[in-house]
Amino acid sequence: MNLSGKEAETPHQSGSEENNVHDVAIIGSGPAGYTAAVYTARANLKPVVFASSVAAGGDLMTTTEVENYPGFIEGIQGPELMANMQQQAERFGADIRYEDVESVNLTGDLKKIVLQDGTVHHAKTVIISTGSEYRKLGLDDESRLSGHGVSWCATCDGFFFKEKPIAVVGGGDSALEEALFLTNFASNVTIIHRRDTLRASEIMQDRALNHPKITFVWDSAVVGIEGENKTEALQVENLKSGLSQRLEVDGLFVAIGSDPRTDLVKGQLDLTAEGTIAVQGRSSKTNLPGVFAAGDVIDPTYRQAITAAGSGCVAAIDAQHYLESL
Ligand code: NAP
Repeated sequence: MNLSGKEAETPHQSGSEENNVHDVAIIGSGPAGYTAAVYTARANLKPVVFASSVAAGGDLMTTTEVENYPGFIEGIQGPELMANMQQQAERFGADIRYEDVESVNLTGDLKKIVLQDGTVHHAKTVIISTGSEYRKLGLDDESRLSGHGVSWCATCDGFFFKEKPIAVVGGGDSALEEALFLTNFASNVTIIHRRDTLRASEIMQDRALNHPKITFVWDSAVVGIEGENKTEALQVENLKSGLSQRLEVDGLFVAIGSDPRTDLVKGQLDLTAEGTIAVQGRSSKTNLPGVFAAGDVIDPTYRQAITAAGSGCVAAIDAQHYLESL
């Protein structure tokens, strides 16, 4: 598998702007970006994908087994799924570059994309599929034990914690939804929240507060995660009293919100109140002609690999129709 992909870079694009005019440029390489690449490549539009130098493949690169992506009876490892999508796009001629986009100018008929090394590309259509980023606690051991007990997705990973104790961090709808879902597997679920009131909706609060498998640790923060190769316990500190406790768990689900990655397009594309890129109805059309958006960057609600892939397909078809109309 070659997702770091350095050796896959093709040298044929110099810094020359004339060489770098594309029908379709796709920024981002999660399920939305790669699906858009498969569809536009099959439509013979020779898409270029700016896949990022370090985060190619998106969030699924940090998960282990994916069991809810249709078509894989026994499940598939997240990185393998993304490698398959990458190779599928390349099979039809997508040009995948493991490079980072520094800035874009999305106005006008020909959009301008400047890479971090200064190379300039132009494209008639741009598909923004930069995804979203789960907020992290910021602990040293959080990344180390990611995929080894620390997770950001109960739907993806809850199944692995049958009859095990689990903790969830957060006090919003996501945290309570994750906790309630995890009660299907866990022996018990402890919700650790930094305040003593919940941000989540009343109905979710009622369900969680009255659930026999859920207990709350209020006014508290996770300050340490123990475990050599897998999560074994948490150090939890009460933010009011300063007292610490050790909580033995097999899983820690971090559900403290996520932020769509829109830095690149802020000020050019309209955003929603939730911070996602605004699109027209069920389409991928943004406020600028020829600019489309897909995946988690437009989705404050579902945020699943399969919904992102479907959204990438929509963007590809919208881009194709736009090019036909020119
Ligand atoms: P959210 O509403 O922003 O809640 C994030 C939670 O994490 C808050 O309780 C916050 O604490 C806590 N938090 C933030 N940063 C933290 C940190 N560094 N350390 C510890 N705790 C931290 O995010 P969300 O729950 O993902 O929801 C996002 C949006 O989607 C919301 O509008 C929500 O209603 C919606 N949503 C709806 C549903 C549903 O209807 N079923 C399900 C999921 C999400 P504070 O409360 O102290 O700020």
